[in-house]
Amino acid sequence: MTAADTSSGPTELRTTVCPGCGAVLVATADADGRHPGASAGCWHLFQVTVGGLRDEAAQDAQTAALLQLARDTYDAQHHLPGEPAAAALRLYLERDRGQGPLAAAALAARVDDAALRSLQRPARWTTTVADLAADLDVVDLPALVGAWADATWADWAPAAAELRRAADSAPTG
Ligand SMILES: [Zn+2]
Repeated sequence: MTAADTSSGPTELRTTVCPGCGAVLVATADADGRHPGASAGCWHLFQVTVGGLRDEAAQDAQTAALLQLARDTYDAQHHLPGEPAAAALRLYLERDRGQGPLAAAALAARVDDAALRSLQRPARWTTTVADLAADLDVVDLPALVGAWADATWADWAPAAAELRRAADSAPTG
């Protein structure tokens, strides 16, 4: 809490709705910086949830791949209209084509932004990072991230044909 929050009483926590994923979370300061299209509380919760992965990713390729999948899923849920939907493309390559997150990122980087600008983001999300964090005590993180990625890809699936065209337009090599 900062001095700016004094309008709310001590027992009444101010909440914000994330403009990207719709998660309703207690408002926090921008301690972790900001993510485009996300509330500060949502980005903070994501950073905390994957914090253990970040510590291990430098030493372990499997953890690095899981962290990349979590980031792609998060980015795909916080897509700004009019911006290239590169994260949705990465999610398509990972969940529909079965590519590894690192290979998907490399291919997505070669796709022209123009092919990804007109995509319509889903109106709602089946699962958000708030659900992920809530289940963390009973389900292990790799399983949670996989299920979250699957659900987010299912939400994006109406754009699958456009994403396939964009992926096929990428120069090889
Ligand atoms: Zn969010």
